[in-house]
Amino acid sequence: MFDLAGKIAVVTGGSRGIGRATSIALAEAGALVLINYRSNEDAAKHTLGLIEQAGGQAELLRFDVADPESVDRGLKEAIERHGRIDILVNNAGISIDQLLLRVSPKDLDLTWATNVNGPIYCAKACIRPMMKKRWGRIINLSSVVAESGNPGQVVYASSKAALLGLTRTLALEYASRGITVNAVAPGFIETDMTADLPDAGKQGIIDQTPLGRIGRPEEVAAAVVFLASEEASYITGQVVRVNGGMHV
Ligand code: NAP
Repeated sequence: MFDLAGKIAVVTGGSRGIGRATSIALAEAGALVLINYRSNEDAAKHTLGLIEQAGGQAELLRFDVADPESVDRGLKEAIERHGRIDILVNNAGISIDQLLLRVSPKDLDLTWATNVNGPIYCAKACIRPMMKKRWGRIINLSSVVAESGNPGQVVYASSKAALLGLTRTLALEYASRGITVNAVAPGFIETDMTADLPDAGKQGIIDQTPLGRIGRPEEVAAAVVFLASEEASYITGQVVRVNGGMHV
């Protein structure tokens, strides 16, 4: 439907879950997708295989978004190889859930390093070639809980809310260079991240969701592909909510 032929896309955390579905969807639209992952090489290779079987183009790109040197090394090498990055999807994220009184500095630091610092490092590494081309798309994966809050997710929800401030600020900083920056805020999506939730908890979420079901990674990926496309050229600094009506 959307044509991304000739575009180079990086999807952080592209090995599994929403990142895998996004990598596949971007490749289906014609982009060459660089599938980033941190440690799960088998999962990343599986994503690569699915794309290649479908006739798409992709490569693996290992780096740790929480480590600025690793990001610089990984993305510098990718930019040298391909000349630029057109589309950056800041998808990699972690969730370490506990109530405020149990929050440890280690969990806080790791979550923020991954969910907030990571997208900033990645955007910083990609922005110059985007400015030079006067075209770019940055799409940040936030969450419904950034806006609704959620007991037990103080660290995660605050990191995802920070991403919205990041999205709006980068949108304003780079609009004049032809670069759009938007966020996608999913509700509850069936992935490894949500797999451990007990059935009663899942049912509670379904009950709170007007569309009456949990979301699929492909439904989030569809919003990312739209925001990456030419058709979304007048949209920047916005949040696209893919949450079944859970928070309106
Ligand atoms: P997931 O299934 O847990 O997958 C996480 C992905 O992030 C994996 O590919 C993982 O790589 C990668 N990753 C984690 N830390 C990394 C790091 N330091 N450097 C590079 N890659 C790293 O997660 P998901 O459910 O698909 O979620 C994707 C995004 O959507 C996250 O930002 C999440 O917060 C957000 N989100 C998810 C939901 C949901 O219900 N699932 C709802 C709202 C928002 P490895 O395979 O190498 O470990």
